[in-house]
Amino acid sequence: MKSRGYAVHDKKSPLAPFSFERREPGANDVVIEIAYSGICHSDIHQARDEWGGSIYPMVPGHEIVGHVTAVGRDVKKFKVGDLAAVGVIVDSCRECENCKADEQQYCLKGAVETYNKSDYSGQVTYGGYSNNIVVHEYYVHTVSPKLNLAAVAPLLCAGITTYSPLRHWKVGKNSKVGVIGLGGLGHMGLKFAHSFGAHVVQFTTSENKIEDAKKLGADEVVVTKDAAAVGKHTGSFDFILDCVSAPHDVNQYLNLLRLNGTLCLVGLPEIPLSVAPFSVVANRRSLAGSGIGGMNQTQEMLDYCADHNIVSDIELTSVDKLNEAYERVLKSDVKYRFVIDMATLPKS
Ligand code: NAP
Ligand code: ZN
Ligand code: ZN
Repeated sequence: MKSRGYAVHDKKSPLAPFSFERREPGANDVVIEIAYSGICHSDIHQARDEWGGSIYPMVPGHEIVGHVTAVGRDVKKFKVGDLAAVGVIVDSCRECENCKADEQQYCLKGAVETYNKSDYSGQVTYGGYSNNIVVHEYYVHTVSPKLNLAAVAPLLCAGITTYSPLRHWKVGKNSKVGVIGLGGLGHMGLKFAHSFGAHVVQFTTSENKIEDAKKLGADEVVVTKDAAAVGKHTGSFDFILDCVSAPHDVNQYLNLLRLNGTLCLVGLPEIPLSVAPFSVVANRRSLAGSGIGGMNQTQEMLDYCADHNIVSDIELTSVDKLNEAYERVLKSDVKYRFVIDMATLPKS
């Protein structure tokens, strides 16, 4: 199947138009015409090979929403015309204990990511900065027509990546929760923690985000360069979600956890973080991590968002402004997720 999109050809070159082929849809596949695709910071890390092992040419994008244009003969969940969404993974073995536990992102055979991966047949996967995608229906989610479709796109990564750990660590009414970094992930973590009834403190390096953070649901906002303001929260949090994309001092935040508290990393800076043993030994603290979420939980999150009228705060952009959008994400200058209008993709 012919596809058009935007790709990077090496770690230094900008995104540029790219034509490529996808597999013909099989019996269980859904073909989606992509309407919107979110820009995740992981796209930038991978486009620039900050995590190593990048495969070029690369078509990034794993926050995908659109309409179904064809279905294989055994597809049960979708028909032509339905809304559909795809996130960070497009295949897994579906047999190992992690897949069976709805934790396909931790598949023991290795989950196939939406782009920058070889699938089980050896073909390289291409992501959502493109006009269409072919995905096994197991990895395609249904979307409520109640929500603004463009603002749903970031739920497929930023949404599930923050929803999943908040559920796993049972954040609720009696929790005091910190969210570090008010970016794409951070603003969704803030919305979900607030919606689950927690007392939420947003940590930010950006003074100009204070008012927004309050509107998004923060009970308190702390600008992190103010050490005294940070210090006031020492030993008080049940759970902290670290959504920062760049190297930073985690010890400063570990020290804010109460007895048995957990700091969970979802941010993936490219270099190792340093942890002082005293930061975790005191108060029997845990330093944890979490990756996206399983397929059932992703659908649960989308349904929760439809029921509670939650979407991302987005800036709609066009394919000709992609490189500019990347630079603005790197400057933490986006409120709070770029979403590409794929109708702006040239027709040939
Ligand atoms: P983003 O929109 O760029 O947000 C990152 C935020 O971190 C910024 O808005 C900024 O918030 C803060 N920040 C940036 N540089 C900083 C620095 N030097 N020191 C302190 N704070 C800084 O990125 P994103 O798309 O939310 O992604 C965040 C991270 O999560 C990335 O590393 C991404 O790869 C990773 N990720 C992980 C998963 C997973 O499954 N675990 C899934 C998706 C993404 P303030 O302006 O408020 O300070
Ligand atoms: Zn992502
Ligand atoms: Zn598996």
